Amino acid sequence: MDKFTDSFRHQGLRKKLVKLLREKGIKDEKVLAAIESFPRHIFFDEAFLEHAYQDKAFPIGEGQTISQPYTVAVQTSLLNIKKGDKVLEIGTGSGYQACILYLMGAKVYSIEYNKNLFNKTRMLINSLNYDIKLFYGDGSKGLPGFAPYDKIVVTAATPGTPSVLLEQLNVNGILVAPVGNEHVQAMKQYIKQADGSYSEKDFGQYKFVPLLGAHGWRN
Ligand code: SAH
Repeated sequence: MDKFTDSFRHQGLRKKLVKLLREKGIKDEKVLAAIESFPRHIFFDEAFLEHAYQDKAFPIGEGQTISQPYTVAVQTSLLNIKKGDKVLEIGTGSGYQACILYLMGAKVYSIEYNKNLFNKTRMLINSLNYDIKLFYGDGSKGLPGFAPYDKIVVTAATPGTPSVLLEQLNVNGILVAPVGNEHVQAMKQYIKQADGSYSEKDFGQYKFVPLLGAHGWRN
């Protein structure tokens, strides 16, 4: 049995995880279905398989973490994903969030600033045969070459209103980002209006690893 095997035990643990996410208030059925179907344990070394379906973040090397399933579920729900949406993710990390978006029918573009992590995740995504477009570079500037996007999600702590990213959104597009200082961030959902302005709402406090780069904390 290699780590790509999806056993009944894994499937059972995922059902429990989804039940817990429901209890914690996640309502988007498409998000829950994607989490229930996707073998998150493939991101874990075999020694840590037990951790794969607990609702917690976990180190993935290079000082980075795979986001907590609840956090992925909250961010993905706030994006209100429709099949065919063109989505940009800043901070590919393990690739878990990107896979969830892909399974929901989004066209996914994801950018990662850590070269080793980028290479590792690219190999894994290739082996899954998922058509997710992965980029290496400073995502704090977005990915202007492929803009505009229907949805943008930042999965690292963002120092202020991410105006460069907001510019890369379509009208009625949604940007979800944790905005704050390095210790605590507010989950923000921005919606781009027809006149170019943005509505902005807060969805609770989180703690993410810092966004690096030109519009992040440091280089
Ligand atoms: N979405 C990921 C979790 C990401 S953790 C998952 O599902 O596993 C945050 C990631 O953002 C880290 O991998 C970090 O290297 C990356 N990151 C930090 N600054 C960045 C930047 N400027 N551009 C792109 N990625 C960045």
